[in-house]
Amino acid sequence: MIYLDYLASTPCDPEVIAEMQRCFFDVYGNPHSAHHAPGRAAALKIEAARASVARLIGATPQEVIFTSGGTESNNLAIKGAARFLKNQGDPRRRIITAATEHKCVLEAVRDLKEEGFEPVILPVLSNGLVSPDALAEALAVPTLLVSIMGANNETGVMNDIPALSALARGKGALFHCDASQVIGKVPFTCEDVDLASISSHKIYGPQGVGALYVQRRPRIRLAPLFSGGGQERGLRSGTLPVALIAGFGLASVLCLTHMATEAPRLAALRDALFNGLQALWPQSIINGQEAARLPGALNICLKNGPEAQGLMVLTPELAYSSASACMSGDVAPSYVLRAMGLSEADAGRSLRLSVGRFTSSSDISRALDVFDRALRAT
Ligand SMILES: *Cc1c(COP(=O)(O)O)cnc(C)c1O
Repeated sequence: MIYLDYLASTPCDPEVIAEMQRCFFDVYGNPHSAHHAPGRAAALKIEAARASVARLIGATPQEVIFTSGGTESNNLAIKGAARFLKNQGDPRRRIITAATEHKCVLEAVRDLKEEGFEPVILPVLSNGLVSPDALAEALAVPTLLVSIMGANNETGVMNDIPALSALARGKGALFHCDASQVIGKVPFTCEDVDLASISSHKIYGPQGVGALYVQRRPRIRLAPLFSGGGQERGLRSGTLPVALIAGFGLASVLCLTHMATEAPRLAALRDALFNGLQALWPQSIINGQEAARLPGALNICLKNGPEAQGLMVLTPELAYSSASACMSGDVAPSYVLRAMGLSEADAGRSLRLSVGRFTSSSDISRALDVFDRALRAT
C-alpha cells in the first residue's frame, strides 16, 4: 500500500509512538491530582508538551488550550467567542467565513444562526483563495468574528492570513484561523491571529487531540463548550489525555526540527507526481494552480478523463481521496472544488493526493506505474 493521503491524516511518527507507549506505562496519574507524585508527573508531561506546541506557533504556553482535535478547537473558537461577546451585550452579530472551509467551521458558523447570529459565507476565487476585497466588503457591516483557514485540506491552497487578519482586526473583528493544515508544514506565527486551531493527527501525532491558541494580550475571552471541572483555565473541562498530549508535544518538536528540509523535499515529490501524471494524462490540471499551495499537496483534475471513483477502484494499491474524508460514503462531488468553480463533472474527475514524511521517491514512481496501468484500462 502506498499512502498518498497525508492531508486526511498522517501516520504517527515512530518516535511519537514510543513516547506515548512510555506514558501509557509510566505516567498513569491524573494530571489534575497535584497532591501526589503520579499526578504531578502527569502534569509535568502536559506542561512540557504545552511548551512544545507553543514553540511551534510562536505562542506562550499559557496561550495553548488542549482539546480533542481540530473539530473541537474550531467549535470552541467560533461558538465560544460569539457567545461570550453576545453575553457581554455586544450588539454585533455578523460572523464571516468562506465556502471552502472545513465542514466543522462551516457548520459551527451556520449553527450559530439559531442563536441570532448572522453567518456570511464568502465565495472564493477560482484559485481557491479568499479575496481580500470580498472580505473588506463583508466587513462593512460591524462583525464579531472572521474565521478563515490557513491552508485547505483538499487542495492545499494557502490563504494570505496576515493580510486577511489585518482587514478583520482593522474593523474591530476577532480573527480565527483554522491552521490545522499549515502548522508544522510551513512557518506559521500566531502573532497574526487572535485564535488558531491545531490538530495533532495532521502533524504526525495521534488522532483525538489538538489545541486552540487563545491570545493573551489583549486577552481573548471565550464561553466554554462544556460544563465541568474547569480545567484548561476554565475553557475546556475534562481530564487531559496525558499520553496523547505527550505525543502531540513530541510531534510538534519533530515538525519544527524537520520543516526546513521537509518542505522542499515534499514539494519535489509532489511535483514529480504531477509531472508523471501529466505525462500519462496530458489534459491534467492542478486545482488551485495559481495559488500558493502546501508543499505536499496535489489536487489534480483529469480533464475529460475517467471518474475518480472508478479510478480508485482500479488502483487499490494506492490510498488517496476523491473528495474530503468527511464526505466519503457520500458521492456528492467536493464542495471545495465546486466553490472554486469546477463543474460537477470536473470535480468528480479530481484526485486529492498528498505526500508526507514517510513518502519516498520510489513510492512516487511505483504510484505512477499503478496509475499508468489503471489509466490504460479505462
Ligand atoms: C483535519 C482538519 C480538521 C479537523 O481536525 P480533527 O482533529 O480531525 O477534528 C479541521 N480543519 C482542517 C483544515 C483539517 O484539515
